[in-house]
Amino acid sequence: EILKGEQIRRDLHNTIQELRGNIRVFVRTRPFLPGDNGSTQSSLDIHPDGENLAIENRSKSYDFKFDKVFTPSSGQEAVFEEVSEFVQSALDGYHVCLFSYGQTGSGKTHTMQGSGSGTMRGIIPRAVEQILSQAKAMQKQKWKFNMTASFLEIYNEELKDLLVNMNEGTITGGPGMSTRNQSKDQSKLSIRRERDGRSYVAGLKKIAIDTEDSEIGMQCLKNVMSAAARARSVASTKMNSVSSRSHSVFMLHLNGVNEDDGTIVEGALNLCDLAGSERLDRSGAGSDTKRLKETQAINKSLSCLGDVFTALSNGSSHVPFRNSKLTYLLQDCLSGDGKALMFVNLSPTIESSSESLCSLRFAQRVNQVELGKATKHVSYKK
Ligand code: ADP
Ligand code: MG
Repeated sequence: EILKGEQIRRDLHNTIQELRGNIRVFVRTRPFLPGDNGSTQSSLDIHPDGENLAIENRSKSYDFKFDKVFTPSSGQEAVFEEVSEFVQSALDGYHVCLFSYGQTGSGKTHTMQGSGSGTMRGIIPRAVEQILSQAKAMQKQKWKFNMTASFLEIYNEELKDLLVNMNEGTITGGPGMSTRNQSKDQSKLSIRRERDGRSYVAGLKKIAIDTEDSEIGMQCLKNVMSAAARARSVASTKMNSVSSRSHSVFMLHLNGVNEDDGTIVEGALNLCDLAGSERLDRSGAGSDTKRLKETQAINKSLSCLGDVFTALSNGSSHVPFRNSKLTYLLQDCLSGDGKALMFVNLSPTIESSSESLCSLRFAQRVNQVELGKATKHVSYKK
C-alpha cells in the first residue's frame, strides 16, 4: 500500500516535471565562514517565499526568481529533500542530471559530495542510499536492479577515470568492448556514441554497487568515493587546486528488469560538480601559459554549456553539444528526453557579489531552457 502511494506520488511528480519542461534551477547560498574575514554583511537578500532573491552589487540591486532559493541555514537534509524525487526518477528509466555551478568556495562540492557519512553528507551518498532502499522495496513487485557507478574528471578538455585503480567487479563501458583493449592511460578516454545515439565513455570503469544488501551497497559507494578522492589528491600535488579547475561527474547506471511482465528500464543519474565559474582575470592566469591554457579550457566548457542552454532555449535546430567534452558527455540529459536541474552555489560576501551576479545571470538563462517531454527508457523482454 505504501509502495503504491509512493508510486502514485512519483508518477505525479514525473507528470509535473514533464508539464513544466524547463530546466529547474535551485539557488543555495552558503553561510559565512571563518575564512570570510569576519564579515557578516551579506550581498544577498533572500525573500521568505523561498523563490525570490535580490543581490546588491556596486550599490545597485538586482532581482531574480528561481524554482527554489535556500537560505544559508538550509542543511544537507533539507536540500536533498527537494531533489530526492528528481533523483529517484532514474529508477523509472529517466536520464537525469544535476549540476552544481558557482565560483570556487561557494559550496559546490559541499552540495554534491558533502563530507563524512553523517549529517554533512551531500547529494551523492544520499542519492545512492535512497535508490538502494527504493530498489529494495521494488523487489516485492518483482523488480531486479543492477547498478554501477563511474566517476570521472574533465580537466583541460581531457577525460580522466578517477576509478582507474579499482578492480573489483570492473567491467568496461560500451557495446562489445573488451577489457583487454582498455587503455591504461587515464587521459586517453574518449566519448563515443552508440547506434541509438546515446553517448558513453569507452573504457570507463563501472564499479558494481550491490543492490541486494544496502549496507554492502553503501560500502561499495564508500570504496568508490575514496578511490576517487585518492586519484584527485595524487593529481592535485602535481597541480595546485585541480579540483576547482576541473569538472567531476559521478555517474550511476541503473538497469531494472521486472520478472513478472518483462519490463526493462534503463536509467542514469549524473551528478556534476563543475569547475569554478570565476572569470579569467581573477584567477591570476595572465602570467603563466599553462594556467592560461587551463583557464581557457575551463571557460570553454562552461561557456559551451552556456551556448548549449542558449541554443536549447531558442529552439535552435543546431545545438552545439560537441563543442566541449562536458556537453557531449551529457547530451542525453540535456537534449529533449532527459531531465536536468542546476544548483547555483553562492558565497554571501560583498567581495563575491560581482561573481554571484554573474552566476545568477547564467542561472537565469538556464532556467529559461525548456526541455521537451522527458522520456523513460523502457523496453520489453522478448
Ligand atoms: P566549492 O566546491 O564550490 O569550491 P566547497 O564546497 O569546497 O566549495 O565549500 C567551501 C567551504 O565552505 C568548505 O569548507 C565547505 O565545507 C564550506 N561550506 C560550503 N557550503 C556550506 C554550507 N551550506 N554549510 C556549511 N559549510 C559550507
Ligand atoms: Mg569543489
